[in-house]
Amino acid sequence: MKRIYFDNNATTKPDARVVQKVLEQAQEIFGNPSSLHYEGQQAKRLLEESRRIIAEEIGARPDEIVFTSGGTEANNLAIKGVAEVFSEKGNHLLTSSIEHQSIKSTHQYLERKGYKVSWIPVDNNGVIDLELLEKSLRPDSILVSVMLANNELGTIQPVKQAAEIAHKKGIYFHCDAVQALGKMPVKVDELGVDLMSISAHKIYAFKGIGALYIRKGTKLTPQTQGGHQEKNRRSGTENLPGILSFAEAIKIFQQEKAERIKRMSLLREKLEKGLKEKFGFARINAELAPRIPNTTSVSFPGFDGEILLLNLDAMGIAVSTGSACRAGMTEPSYVLQAIGLSKEEAQGTLRISLGKDNTDEEVDYFLDALGKALEKIKRGD
Ligand SMILES: *Cc1c(COP(=O)(O)O)cnc(C)c1O
Repeated sequence: MKRIYFDNNATTKPDARVVQKVLEQAQEIFGNPSSLHYEGQQAKRLLEESRRIIAEEIGARPDEIVFTSGGTEANNLAIKGVAEVFSEKGNHLLTSSIEHQSIKSTHQYLERKGYKVSWIPVDNNGVIDLELLEKSLRPDSILVSVMLANNELGTIQPVKQAAEIAHKKGIYFHCDAVQALGKMPVKVDELGVDLMSISAHKIYAFKGIGALYIRKGTKLTPQTQGGHQEKNRRSGTENLPGILSFAEAIKIFQQEKAERIKRMSLLREKLEKGLKEKFGFARINAELAPRIPNTTSVSFPGFDGEILLLNLDAMGIAVSTGSACRAGMTEPSYVLQAIGLSKEEAQGTLRISLGKDNTDEEVDYFLDALGKALEKIKRGD
């Protein structure tokens, strides 16, 4: 059976051109970039060329990019690194109530270590309350972390304004831009961020590679001890095949950017129009908020999202109930509850996240299959 993949916010299928390029390079260029001999220096050249490409895409300087094992590690390094270096100045951190699990858990970890965290709420559209953010800043605040695009809702946060609020008080600002990269402009100077996390596998490259942007002059304590790689900000031999995949995916994105974003927007418009026409009782979450162009969160009151997901899967379609990390757990999404959904409504929600290669036919097939799944569940068979 031909599969339809509508879970691109969980991960994307690596672009065939990315895989090809990495195969060509990784076989021949295998040296350790820290070695002084020819093999090492060849690897070093590729590493630095990749760093330059990735830096350029987000408007950064190459030496402001630190490679990590992904978005999760970049988020951990940013938050724990700042918390540690400023532990004398203060122990108060601020973040939103709808951050990715890796941001949420890192803050909870620091709470257990004695740090104080203000969790800033969002409105019904999933947009952070900037006034409350400003009012919650204290003399002992050391970091504000707000994501750019939410992975469950697609909502875009007013990061530039939030960063200005933090900077007025001399406080660092971190942004989790993992879900935004590849779907909207992501430029560190326009956003005004000091630290920013990105990840390769959300943009058609390999899993297990990401980066933290660290603005020149920003202080942070390394969280990995070892061979002083990445200018001593993240020890460990660099994942060169992963980094090559990341750079190649960015290069392809640069060529296809406008077309990709337009295609996804039109496809999502078709999807949401179809959902509303066919299923009058369904509700699209954060529909009126500014959103990245590929994500739809839709609630089916009275239905269980997981059962819907499994029925769709049996018909060849991959969607999500919200967060990939929740697999096997029964606790409904904290993100959906933060925008005012009840536990039951949250439980009956599907996330459909489109990718660059999805088609009109796939959306038609999905709408049809969804109708059948809802009927089947209602009949109770
Ligand atoms: C996927 C994701 C992450 C985690 O990135 P990994 O590379 O999978 O560790 C972090 N934040 C957001 C918003 C994400 O969507």
